[in-house]
Amino acid sequence: MMFCPKCGSILAPKEGGKKGKLGCVRCNYVSKEKQEVKLQETVEKPKKIEIIDENPMKAYPKTKEECPKCSNREAYFWTVQTRAGDEAETRFFECTKCRHRWREYS
Ligand SMILES: [Zn+2]
Ligand SMILES: [Zn+2]
Repeated sequence: MMFCPKCGSILAPKEGGKKGKLGCVRCNYVSKEKQEVKLQETVEKPKKIEIIDENPMKAYPKTKEECPKCSNREAYFWTVQTRAGDEAETRFFECTKCRHRWREYS
């Protein structure tokens, strides 16, 4: 069922006209084509950006910090600013041996 884009009435096959054409029962609207071929819009969904947890440790220095998990006495460390300026930086550690991560609460 198709409807007139002008007045919303039902479109019916036009008598006497070229076959296949549809015309509005109320106004003089005649559809141009047999069937309006709607081009399907190919809306591409935005690809999910995978956040790869890269190991940034290579660039970070080591420090003498005891791992709470395996008691290894060496860990990489880096600092993260948790909030905009009003808090001190939080230190994070990663055990060089077992890769356990923890943070230092100051
Ligand atoms: Zn109409
Ligand atoms: Zn460890």
